[in-house]
Order: sequence, then structure tokens, then C-alpha cells
Amino acid sequence: MYPQSQILFERSKELIPGGVNSPVRAFGSVGGSPLFIQKASGSQLIDHDGRSYTDYINSWGPMILGHQFPSVVAAVKDQLSRGFSYGCPTEAELKMTELIKLMAPWAEKTRLTSSGTEACMSALRVARGFTGKSKFIKFAGNYHGHADPFLVKAGSGLLTFGVPGSAGVPKGAIEDTLVATYNNLESVSDLFTHFDGEIAAVIIEPVSGNMGCIPPKKGFLEGLKKLCKANQCILIFDEVMTGFRLSQGGAADYYGIIPDMVTFGKVIGGGLPVGAFAGRADIMDVLAPLGPVYQAGTLSGNPLATASGIATLSHLHEHPEIYSSIEKTTMTIERLLVNRFSNEPAAINRVGSMISIHFGIEELSNLEDATSANTDRFNSFFHHMLKNGIYLPPSAFESWFISQSIKERELDQLEKALSTF
Ligand SMILES: *Cc1c(COP(=O)(O)O)cnc(C)c1O
Repeated sequence: MYPQSQILFERSKELIPGGVNSPVRAFGSVGGSPLFIQKASGSQLIDHDGRSYTDYINSWGPMILGHQFPSVVAAVKDQLSRGFSYGCPTEAELKMTELIKLMAPWAEKTRLTSSGTEACMSALRVARGFTGKSKFIKFAGNYHGHADPFLVKAGSGLLTFGVPGSAGVPKGAIEDTLVATYNNLESVSDLFTHFDGEIAAVIIEPVSGNMGCIPPKKGFLEGLKKLCKANQCILIFDEVMTGFRLSQGGAADYYGIIPDMVTFGKVIGGGLPVGAFAGRADIMDVLAPLGPVYQAGTLSGNPLATASGIATLSHLHEHPEIYSSIEKTTMTIERLLVNRFSNEPAAINRVGSMISIHFGIEELSNLEDATSANTDRFNSFFHHMLKNGIYLPPSAFESWFISQSIKERELDQLEKALSTF
């Protein structure tokens, strides 16, 4: 008898490309057949065979409070009885943006979207519209959603042009995308020198989470801010992962560096589709209907999604101690990993409640380091943990996201599983 997940995967593959609606879910890099999940509660995912797994991804970040957190469930249920979508402004959108500004005051004005991808592509358009310039800098290995201008692979040398990172992205769409090296300020200042007066924005994951967890080196974000200021260029922090996770005000708050614009996603919707882009009022006011930059969304600020977002953010706002508590949990996970893998090279990086392990390397500070890691060892680690009821991200290039529902019982389970690997 095949497991139900495998049967469902085979059927899905006939109708959904690759059987999934987002590629990394397919277990392509770790191998094997993905789990199909039928429900989740607290720290546990339950698959179609009725097996439970402790969730160390938490929907790639959003479920920071754990699955089915009571006040979030109640808020969504309450909205359910009042309709799903009106296509008209609502008080909830106002409440949501007030809350965002309360937690991240540099979000002077905010617009809501339905995904992080939309937030990032819209922020870039606003930065270009505001400055009247076209080029922008991104960092190799940083992910800003799947809009065309971001899907670029770095060229062989810093000043060589990038190439499309996906088929279907025409060269024209990435002509103005410049790629720098994460944690390397010189690679950024070289681009500013070479393209003097042409660069509209620098967009960065202030803590990288899409090649494992990579903290910014000391002085890196400060240096970026200075370079942007000197070059009349907009600094965009992509806080889709880090926003409302590393602290109330995300990485900007955590490191004390205030960007001109910021994008949010993941935690901001508490598991329903919400994104947002925000920033200085003078910049955001270029948006239609006030200004000349067009941006829109039929379901932007959707009442159900907004209800979940408000409930999640207000809980975080009212209980700031959650941040130190999930950080403490993640430090314990870090210690368990460090102890277990002290006899082999492994880069274990952690910032707040984000953590990752790369085998076979000692240090991880940019994409080049990440791609030199031993992914085979990660893959066998992943499957060992899965057999032991622990669900890690199915790729060595992803950060783990810890939720507040991971407690002593889950950590004991992790320690046991580590001891038998
Ligand atoms: C997930 C992610 C995105 C894209 O968000 P989606 O909601 O998947 O479109 C953008 N930027 C970062 C840093 C992300 O982690």
C-alpha cells in the first residue's frame, strides 16, 4: 500500500505542473514524495495518512503564532459571517495600516497587496517612478518574488550583465537589474560608480533567508544606507520574511537601520494572503490615484485576509515578549545542532527565530558559500528528521522558521532525532 500522500501526488502531477502550486513544495531538491497535509494545529502538521510532524517551516514564516491560534481563528470566523470581499474600502484596512505604522513607524504610508511578490514589484515601480531612474541593484541569492525584473542570475564578473534566471523572462526585462554580492559593500559602490546617476533603488533582504539564513555583516546595512543617500537612491528593505518576525519592526528595528521603503508578506497575513509595501509619505504619494504610478488589486485589503493579519499583528504587538521567547527556543535549537555536528564542518547561522544549517562549509555569508555546501548530507538529514516526525524545509537553501508553539516537548523530540542521525 502506498501512502495517501504519494497517491495524491501522482494524481496531482497529471493536472498541476509538477503536482504543486509552488516549486519547492515538490521535494525536488531533497528527493522523495512530498507530504500532503490535511490539517494543522499548534506545532503539528497532520498528513493524509494521519501522521503528525512538528513544523519547523510554519508555511515559510506566516504561522509565527502556531497553527489555529485561537484569536486569529476567532477573527476570521467573525469576518466570515459578514462577507468575504466587497471591492470597497473598509475600516479594517485602516486598522491594519495603523497597526503596521505603530510597529514599524517608517511605514508612513502603506498599500496592501495579496502577496510578497506583488509588494516587491510594486515597491520597485514606485522607486523608479519617484526617482525617474530605471536601474536598480539586487543581491545574488536574495529573493524578491517571481516578478520578471528580479529573476536574474549574476553575470560572471560584477559589471557584466546578468542573464535571465528563468526561461520566459526576456533580456529586456532584466536590462536594468544590477547584481551585487551580499555582505560586500565594495560590489555595491562599484556599481554606483559605474552607473552614476542611473540607479533608482537598492533592494535587499536585510537578513537573507532564501539561501539559508545569512545575517548582514557589521556595517553592511549602514554602508548601504549611506551609499543610497549619497546617490539619491531609494533603499528598499524586503522584509517579507523578517517583518514582524525578528522584532515588532522587523530587521530595520532589530539592526536600527531605517530604509526609505519596506515590503512585507508572510507574517503580516498570519497565513492568509497579504502583502504590503510602505515607506516615506512623499515617496508613496506617487501612487495612483494621487500620482502617476499605477498599481491596483481586486482582492487587495481583502476582509478575510485583513482580519487574520490584524489579529496576528495585534497579538504580536500586545505580547512583545513572544520575540524573546521564540529567540530563546531558536537558541536552544542552535545549541542542539552545534553540539551534534561539532565533529564535522557545518555552518549554523541564526538570527532571532530564523536558523539554517549548511553541511561541509565553515562559514556562510553569501550565495557562493551557500552553493558550495554539501547538499547530499542535508538531504539525508532532512529525510532522517522526517522519519522522526520533524518537518524541516525541503531544501538546504531555506531558513527554518520557528513558531511560538515549539516548546520543550518538541525540542526533546528534536534532540532525540539528532542523536540517532
Ligand atoms: C517569500 C518572499 C517573497 C515573495 O512572497 P510571496 O508571497 O511568495 O509572493 C519576497 N521576498 C522575500 C524575502 C520572501 O521571502
